Amino acid sequence: MPELPEVETIRRGLEERVPRKAGKILEVKVFEKKCFIGEPEGIIGTEVEKIERRGKALLIHFLNKKTAIVHLRMTGQLIWRGNYASGDIKTEDEGFLEKSGGVFEGTKKGAYEGEKSLIENSFAGGHPSENFLAELPNRQTRAVVRFEGGTLFFNDQRKFGFFKVVETERVGEDKFLAGLGKEPWEMTVEEFFEKLQRHRGAPIKAVILDQKNVAGLGNIYADEALFYAKIFPGRKAGEISREEAEKLLEGARVVMERSLEAGGSTIRNYVKSDGTRGDYLELFAEVFNREGKECVRCGEKIKKIRVAGRGTHYCPRCQELKGAGDLEGVRSSQGSQGSRGSQGSQGFHAEVKRKEEK
Ligand SMILES: [Zn+2]
Repeated sequence: MPELPEVETIRRGLEERVPRKAGKILEVKVFEKKCFIGEPEGIIGTEVEKIERRGKALLIHFLNKKTAIVHLRMTGQLIWRGNYASGDIKTEDEGFLEKSGGVFEGTKKGAYEGEKSLIENSFAGGHPSENFLAELPNRQTRAVVRFEGGTLFFNDQRKFGFFKVVETERVGEDKFLAGLGKEPWEMTVEEFFEKLQRHRGAPIKAVILDQKNVAGLGNIYADEALFYAKIFPGRKAGEISREEAEKLLEGARVVMERSLEAGGSTIRNYVKSDGTRGDYLELFAEVFNREGKECVRCGEKIKKIRVAGRGTHYCPRCQELKGAGDLEGVRSSQGSQGSRGSQGSQGFHAEVKRKEEK
């Protein structure tokens, strides 16, 4: 599932190409009604004004006062192909799949030797897969928005994502966005500390993963932020001091900013187009997916456990247990059965998905 920095990277990639550049919308094709909510006709003839982000949702604002709320959830993808970007794109050579966050960018001149313009003015983001380079639409395409200057494909293998067209003035009423908390950058330490107090009995990781408390902090960044602040992920939120809360909030900002920078710098790297993850994480992750490896701070081996049903990485020395209650709701990483916690099926499936992809 793309996390906030990846969604922001997608926003930037599309913002560069679509608003006031792609021209009018000529056609909207819906292949899967479950994934396209609202009237497709409502955006025909208009142009994109700007693209914003709220949490992990993208808001595509149209000039006719309508907005598409787009959420990629687990396997969603947004793929932009400029009009002169068509034809077969070979995938056996090196392509441009950005690992992990799954961003593909084909605007660099000569980026794809010998296939000149096929991928110029193209951009793709979301769940990394062959679709970034494949001929589209294909059987995972749920909706297609054709502009004068190019085409936007909304692909989603598992159909949990959505593209929802509403009146711009009613965006705030959307139930997905209405419940969203502030992002770490928008929040004061007092506000953050107050959230922790309100959920004092829950493991700190579960509290910061809940999008109602903090928007945009996903599993990877929650682990990284807790490591940054030297807080054991299973500690009760109510036992976190104000000083620790401050450090944790700072950590959330720092790790996401670091990731955004990594996305920005590796976006042009050539990597195999097999959709595998790894390199991108290595650029900034200090605990995530590093179980068994040495802690960058103290050399202790990083451990993996389950907290609130999610795979959780931490350093046993830097992130010490402080109280007897710290291990409630914590399981060893082997005992995944029945450890979904209160995260619901979405978190659980995301975890399973992550394992499948290895
Ligand atoms: Zn350590």
